[in-house]
Amino acid sequence: MPNRLSACTLNLAILVLVPALLLPPAAPAQPVPAAEAAPAFTDAQLTAAARLRDRALSGTGAYDIVASLTTEIGPRLAGSEGDRAAVAWALTRLNDLGFVNVRTQNVMVPRWVRGSTYVAITNPWPQPLVATALGGSVGTSEEGLEADVLQVPSLEALKKLNRSTVEGRIVFINQGMKRTRDISGYAAAVGARTEGAIAAATLGAVAVVVRSISTSSNRVPHTGTMSSDPNVPRIPAAALSNPDADMLERQLASGQQVTLRLRLTARELPPTRSANVIGEIPGTDPDAGIVLLGAHLDSWDLGTGALDDGAGVAIVIEAARLVREMKLSPKRTLRVVLFANEEFGLSGARAYAAKLDKDELARHVMAMEADLGAGPVWRFDTGVPQATLPRMKAIADVLQPLGIERGNNDSHGGADLRPLHALGVPVMGLQLDASQYFDVHHTANDTLDKIDPKILDQTVAAYAVAAYLAAVKDEDFGRVETAER
Ligand SMILES: [Zn+2]
Repeated sequence: MPNRLSACTLNLAILVLVPALLLPPAAPAQPVPAAEAAPAFTDAQLTAAARLRDRALSGTGAYDIVASLTTEIGPRLAGSEGDRAAVAWALTRLNDLGFVNVRTQNVMVPRWVRGSTYVAITNPWPQPLVATALGGSVGTSEEGLEADVLQVPSLEALKKLNRSTVEGRIVFINQGMKRTRDISGYAAAVGARTEGAIAAATLGAVAVVVRSISTSSNRVPHTGTMSSDPNVPRIPAAALSNPDADMLERQLASGQQVTLRLRLTARELPPTRSANVIGEIPGTDPDAGIVLLGAHLDSWDLGTGALDDGAGVAIVIEAARLVREMKLSPKRTLRVVLFANEEFGLSGARAYAAKLDKDELARHVMAMEADLGAGPVWRFDTGVPQATLPRMKAIADVLQPLGIERGNNDSHGGADLRPLHALGVPVMGLQLDASQYFDVHHTANDTLDKIDPKILDQTVAAYAVAAYLAAVKDEDFGRVETAER
């Protein structure tokens, strides 16, 4: 498949570059501005960070962790049997790997069941289409529904239409997504999925189908959450794979009236219990606070959640474990949090932040998250107070031999960190290369074979370095001011 070939080519190029860049060792910290007068880190701390980086590059256990999660558990949609099994898996795994204070934190999660999705063109040239329900979609009636198709090029174009144009029809939002290294391509397109049903139902549509928010040219539709509005009727919503969206587009281009038939058995069950899973590598000073490393344990139900977010789970576990293996003993505790239900509404992240009292919140000195696939990391963004930027520069210098550039200070850290960042917790946003990620994200193709163990090790190296250096200094990072969040 062309997409996989180009991924391999890219990966090989990086693997060739990284060892060459490892010499000479990390540059010393740059001169710091008056805002933070002392050198960012001691030579010993920088040397330890470089050793940690090189240790990770020599091979980590991260691939084994994600292989175990995807092989022994597989899909783990919030509230499902797989989700429950994943919580048990995580408790066992963290204990086995030497984490302490391993525990769960109960979280209530919505429970939605996909059921079956049938979408077919019935006129002018009947053909079945490969489609899947969007997360949270209602089902159709038992017999399904059939209606004329109204194609729109974007969510914005849909919102400008009159009710008389849309009423009684099935809206097809035919908005493609651009392949980008960061998430900007996805961010620009995803509104069609999240807001499409509300916009269509507001104007009286009977259903909505969207072109998958995906860069894949394979016949795999991309699911994901959609919003709902209590004041707007809920209508069935499905995503077509890109080749099937192309097919519908071609039939519409004939100028003939196109009709679609939909039958979805998706349904919502009562909310149920899941859990965040937490484990720690204790620091030498219990009063020095914690550095949080987060990933989400849940996944969509179509694939095995290898890239989203089994890889992230493996990255944060292994980054923290390596700090302990190398007996680096930072002052601060490294806390791994495997969040419940990121995909279906950030239940775990919200519950985690809501349960923090003032003192517990103050102990959260820094947070970082892995939730954009299996690497490599290519850019180091942050969301920290201006005064601590010299320290971020010093961390960036240790990351640089991994092929990582210093990015901006506009990071929110990632979806699961947003509630913490909104409370003022500084974040480090390591950007993973997303060029191939959206070929498989939220599809049946999100499986282990897409992960290259060496690339995953580079990502672990970056997380380990950043977490370790955030955990060593006496001074903390302060709080992010409202204007900076
Ligand atoms: Zn994710």
